Amino acid sequence: MIKQNKQFLIIAGPCAVESREQARAAAAMVKEEKLKYFRGGAYKPRTSPYSFQGLGKKGLTILSEVKKKDKLKIVTEVTDPELLNVVSDHADVIQIGTRNMANFSLLKKVGRKTAKTKQFVILKRGFSATIEEWLLAAEYILKAGNKRILLCERGIRTFENATRFTIDLSAIPVIKKLSSLPIIVDVSHGTGHADLVLPMAKASVAVGADGLMLEIHPNPHKALCDGQQSLDPSSFKKTIKTVKRILRLEKKEII
Ligand code: PEP
Ligand code: MN
Repeated sequence: MIKQNKQFLIIAGPCAVESREQARAAAAMVKEEKLKYFRGGAYKPRTSPYSFQGLGKKGLTILSEVKKKDKLKIVTEVTDPELLNVVSDHADVIQIGTRNMANFSLLKKVGRKTAKTKQFVILKRGFSATIEEWLLAAEYILKAGNKRILLCERGIRTFENATRFTIDLSAIPVIKKLSSLPIIVDVSHGTGHADLVLPMAKASVAVGADGLMLEIHPNPHKALCDGQQSLDPSSFKKTIKTVKRILRLEKKEII
């Protein structure tokens, strides 16, 4: 999926699919920047059972519409082994979230399923997982038969609460030393604040990340999930412009 040192993947989209209108408006933001990968959660693993849980099947249908009409590749999360078949019918890339990094039955099933359907898997780092535990979680997918894995550093839990999580930037060069898997950084969940996304995106490029995941929203104040950390249309444009400028200097192609 990514030719390391030559290509750089940017995945952008809302935290959750909230409606057809919201998803298509977010997809228009992604298309305007000529990006190809659209993220959006249909099944949301929320900390509180009282928070918006995602649109479920209806969210997947909307994602398929985005895929067809906007010609974008779809990245969406699977939260449960039983949902894998239905989610993978609508996704180009399956995401395993931080809360499921050590869900070994899900990892094994994703390894088997994706081996057949040739889907990529984004494996996010558990927010309390060491790098070794994370790489061993990736081994579960590899061992089950799928080598198409992208690691995603999304911040770990520390004593610091000025940011939602703490992005472990050193994990990127450490992973480069220990593994041949590509690694991207989710600077939205990693910071929790839209104004910190651009500086941490620049830092991620500087330490050698192979890509970024960004949460965006046509109107973050109205977001049902993670509005605080979502880029609005103008800050998204500015972020992409800056990242593109740096990547041009590094002679990396954006995918
Ligand atoms: C997400 O990407 O929407 C998400 C829930 O991420 P994480 O698993 O990193 O919290
Ligand atoms: Mn989110």
